[in-house]
Amino acid sequence: MRFKAIETAYNRPVINVPGPGEKVADYYGSYTFNDDVMKTLLTPEAYLKVSNAIKSGSRIDREIADEVAAAMKAWATSKGATHYTHWFQPLTGGTAEKHDAFFDVTPSGKAIEKFKGSALVQQEPDASSFPSGGLRATFEARGYTGWDPSSPAFLMDNGAGGKTLCIPSVFISYTGEALDYKTPILRALHVLDKAATAVMYYFDRNVEKVTATLGPEQEYFLVDKALYYARPDLVMAGRTVFGHSPAKGQQLEDHYFGSIPPRVNAFMVDFEYEAWKLGIPVRTRHNEVAPGQFECAPTFEELNLAIDHNALLMDLMNKVAERHNYKVLFHEKPFAGINGSGKHNNWSMMTDTGVNLLAPSTKPKETLRFLTFLMNVVKAVHDHADLLRASIASAGNEYRLGANEAPPAIVSIFLGDELIRLLETLENRGEVQLEKGDNVFYKLGITRTPPLMRDNTDRNRTSPFAFTGNKFEYRAVGGSANSASPMIILNTIVANQLQEFKKDLEGRLEFGEKKELAIVDILKEYYRQSKSILFQGNGYSDNWVQEAAKRGLTNIASTPLALGKYIEPASIQVLEKMGVLSAREVHARYEIELENYIKKVQIESRVIGDLALNHVVSTAVKYQHQLAQTAKSLVELELIEEAQPLKELIKEISRRVFIIKQAVEAMTEARKKANNLEDIPKRAELYGSEVKDYFEKIRYEVDKLELLIDDEDWPLVKYREMLFVK
Ligand code: ADP
Ligand code: MG
Repeated sequence: MRFKAIETAYNRPVINVPGPGEKVADYYGSYTFNDDVMKTLLTPEAYLKVSNAIKSGSRIDREIADEVAAAMKAWATSKGATHYTHWFQPLTGGTAEKHDAFFDVTPSGKAIEKFKGSALVQQEPDASSFPSGGLRATFEARGYTGWDPSSPAFLMDNGAGGKTLCIPSVFISYTGEALDYKTPILRALHVLDKAATAVMYYFDRNVEKVTATLGPEQEYFLVDKALYYARPDLVMAGRTVFGHSPAKGQQLEDHYFGSIPPRVNAFMVDFEYEAWKLGIPVRTRHNEVAPGQFECAPTFEELNLAIDHNALLMDLMNKVAERHNYKVLFHEKPFAGINGSGKHNNWSMMTDTGVNLLAPSTKPKETLRFLTFLMNVVKAVHDHADLLRASIASAGNEYRLGANEAPPAIVSIFLGDELIRLLETLENRGEVQLEKGDNVFYKLGITRTPPLMRDNTDRNRTSPFAFTGNKFEYRAVGGSANSASPMIILNTIVANQLQEFKKDLEGRLEFGEKKELAIVDILKEYYRQSKSILFQGNGYSDNWVQEAAKRGLTNIASTPLALGKYIEPASIQVLEKMGVLSAREVHARYEIELENYIKKVQIESRVIGDLALNHVVSTAVKYQHQLAQTAKSLVELELIEEAQPLKELIKEISRRVFIIKQAVEAMTEARKKANNLEDIPKRAELYGSEVKDYFEKIRYEVDKLELLIDDEDWPLVKYREMLFVK
């Protein structure tokens, strides 16, 4: 099986991707019900109402909804759509769709086309099997999906089966509680807008709206489909549970930014073309550090849209990969010993006047504004570091954080030496006395932005949360994650902090302090309070782990413990206060995440047990038998000494097989013990400790056997075979 898979994989032709033959501008967004389409198809009144709903979240009444639905249907069917669906992001991860046909059948058996405003606005999918963390007791089991007009509807091309009109939606319970990622994101973006706009009042009164922006860089691995199916662990768990490191890994770093292999390139060209039709602005592609690893990144967009686009892109990549005979691995750590995959969340805030609030400026007044937003983000992350850590905790990311070339499980912030110097100068400046005619910025030392701050040379790739010139990059987010999870938290805590800042500032202004001096004083105070989280050194070093402990920063490697931070009083308090998640919703999410974790570890544990016994041990015993036969023949020929190495080998295999068998049995017992626990947090902890402790132990022995047993007999596709196929 292994060799057949390898032969298939190695002899794959490059699938020819016909170039679109058109200019990107001609088809970009052609599969979206976008602003241009609406302008053409809607009456001016309806267009205005929808535009307002998009801009300010105002309600859309029934009549307008009917008109929009009719236009959507006409547009979609003219492009070959037969079905429509509310498209949403349940807490299982991934996206969900349930397709309904555009027609209905009359009692007399005739088909009539049907898609009303009511169907556009709200649906009731039979969604009882999505996780709800107890939010939907059986008596209120219904869940509703509701149209999000701020993210344009789009056409999903299902290949030979026609197209489906997808309507981005929220997913809520009968009682209005969030069962998805989008609902709290919309709430968080709303409070961030309000809080940031209120702070902007002190800098520029023309600003009426602040939006958060996001550009998620997506890392992934490609594995040939035949090899993938020959690895049951990849199929079941998305990662390899065994596999000895190849002689050549990523030591040479020759893959990074190297030339893209033609077969991979064809896949990229193909999914990018599909993405552009959907208005997803994927712009960059390159090889990543590990062999077989790649990255794509879009131009940043309004955050809610960027999240939808990333979820859609992942789905699209999976679909397009099928026709190129690849499987895409988004898992955070599909291969031990080499880099894992992250999804760097580049984040900033932008005013409706077009100003990036995290972009340094050469003008002193704007520099003060920049420092204000920057320091409020720093303080927010400092005060809620554990909550931010919780938001990226998952079974997959547990393998990545703190492993090879990934940020540790310690939340710290990189600002760059220039910024630190500027903040230090501010902090050390004593009372500033202003005389008539004085230039306040000059007195404060904010005369000019150091040039280094404005270019990208000052970079730190080892920081989980790094300032990268005009945005923050949350690099600890996992490759398979929904960005909404960390972005709900980040936007909420920043909104909260901006509200606090406004209060602090108002308090001072009431006493007649000069605005600029008051702001600087507050920022100095914030800097003092949050300094401990600022770290400019190598985040991957052991020294940092010790230093961070000394500073009192938390280092939570375990996923169940990290998730536990969701339900700490301080976390619930900020989420409730900002109206983003109620205590009940937070608890539900916590429970769902724990259950996800348990299920994933449970599946891995079973796969490990099955593969170890049915594939590895059985192969080892067969090989041992061959060795024994050979040894026997040697002894018969009186070649006693010559038989000795074989005997040693037989013994070593026996010893390793024995350890494996024992460990698998003990692991099964640990699983039983965990399953018997009613308390979900305790069960998750047991899975994360006692059950998981056997993974490495078993793997160690299996990987040793891989080196001992004849290559011809080894049942699992090897790392070198998976990673270097193009
Ligand atoms: P680099 O490649 O050096 O990290 P880029 O400028 O290419 O920097 O940005 C990487 C990602 O960050 C891209 O997805 C980009 O769109 C995004 N990005 C750039 N500016 C912003 C911003 N203001 N807000 C959010 N994301 C941004
Ligand atoms: Mg980056």
